[in-house]
Amino acid sequence: MPKKASKKIAIIGGGAAGFFAALTLSELDAEAEVHLFEKRNQWLSKVKISGGGRCNVTHHCFDPKALSEKYPRGSKELRAAFHTWQPQDTIDWFAQRKIQLKAESDGRMFPTTDDSQTIIDCFLNQAQKSQIKLRKGLGIDGISLNPDGSFLLEINDEEKTSYQSVCLALGSLKSSPLERSIANLGHSLESLAPSLFAFNINDTRTFGLSGLSVPNAKVWLNSPKQSQTGPLLITHRGMSGPAILKLSAWEARTLQAQNYHFDFSINWLAHIPKTSIEDTFEKHRIENGKRTLKNTLLFDLPRRLWESLLVYAKISPETTWSQLSKKSSEALVKELTEGLYKAQGKTTNKDEFVTCGGVKRQEINFKRMESKFVPNLYFAGECIDLDGITGGFNFQAAWTTGRIAGMAMAE
Ligand SMILES: Cc1cc2nc3c(=O)[nH]c(=O)nc-3n(C[C@H](O)[C@H](O)[C@H](O)COP(=O)(O)OP(=O)(O)OC[C@H]3O[C@@H](n4cnc5c(N)ncnc54)[C@H](O)[C@@H]3O)c2cc1C
Repeated sequence: MPKKASKKIAIIGGGAAGFFAALTLSELDAEAEVHLFEKRNQWLSKVKISGGGRCNVTHHCFDPKALSEKYPRGSKELRAAFHTWQPQDTIDWFAQRKIQLKAESDGRMFPTTDDSQTIIDCFLNQAQKSQIKLRKGLGIDGISLNPDGSFLLEINDEEKTSYQSVCLALGSLKSSPLERSIANLGHSLESLAPSLFAFNINDTRTFGLSGLSVPNAKVWLNSPKQSQTGPLLITHRGMSGPAILKLSAWEARTLQAQNYHFDFSINWLAHIPKTSIEDTFEKHRIENGKRTLKNTLLFDLPRRLWESLLVYAKISPETTWSQLSKKSSEALVKELTEGLYKAQGKTTNKDEFVTCGGVKRQEINFKRMESKFVPNLYFAGECIDLDGITGGFNFQAAWTTGRIAGMAMAE
């Protein structure tokens, strides 16, 4: 039986944040008439392609403080918001709907089906059960305020309808037709910049090494004190992997300002102190003087990378440990622990990328995800200036902000 509406609410954007806001609202206020608009002909298109088609739903981290540290922008606001909705709540929410999530060794959590369609099907079933009015293929071109404080939505430049509350869950605001409406409603945007990308390099040290990875590298721009650590992957264009992606996120704005041409440094052995490397070299000089450097595999470095770094440090791979001069030894330690590389452009990470920038956080009350200027106007997800590193943190921000907006709209 169709429900009797107590209020009419529009949620704009049929992605992760929009769905979670709509489902929360219908769950908490069964009488609200919820309209979910999506300009594309497909719901949850990013969820579909996320995590390589598996959807990295959240991260196995349950401490709001530790979790919030994974967000280059929005950390402070999200830390408080995670006290309302955090990964354990996400896990429980899906479990109550018979979707189990599993954690991988690095903490990323996926549905046990390893298929993002599981998440999409769950949302669509729930939305139908809750009688949410699913309106896809309908882009909202403008929003304005009526004299009574309700909102007038311009739908596909034709229809104009009023709603008591509106939640903007638009995703990246890159070339969004609603940018002007958002400004007219009194909000300003932090400039947009891509985050989570790989670095392009053209460097003899990595020629022919595409596909090699090291488990524990440290990378930084200007100071090793502001470095990121983790696995690093050599690709056919340059470098990727968690260490690089994290650095791209934390330095997103600096790198954009440099038009993605910048110097960065790599310590290939982040877990080994420099003095231990020097001691190991000394030990080999004494104990394995006749062995060639080429034939000594040290610190689990991939053989081809080791040889390439030797050559770059101007050391013949046939050199024996007893022949290794002090100067060459120092050059090699430097190459291993602080090699300098030049990035010449970026490549979008195919598994996960986000846009940083968007509606300014200080203009939003994060306890309700409501505008500080316009009552009953809410925001959720990536259209706000907040973003996380890879690992399920961006979806968690969408669930958290969507949940809080839904709760506030249901009041
Ligand atoms: C390839 C890829 C893989 C990713 N994988 C992961 C992952 O595994 N884990 C993770 O945590 N994050 C991942 N992310 C990031 C994650 O997808 C985003 O952080 C998340 O989708 C943001 O949710 P959102 O609802 O805010 O925005 P979106 O998912 O972008 O949804 C916004 C929706 O609003 C619609 N819309 C916009 N304007 C209008 C309008 N005017 N009218 C009507 N509709 C409109 C858009 O069409 C869109 O469908 C990935 C991103 C990419 C690109």
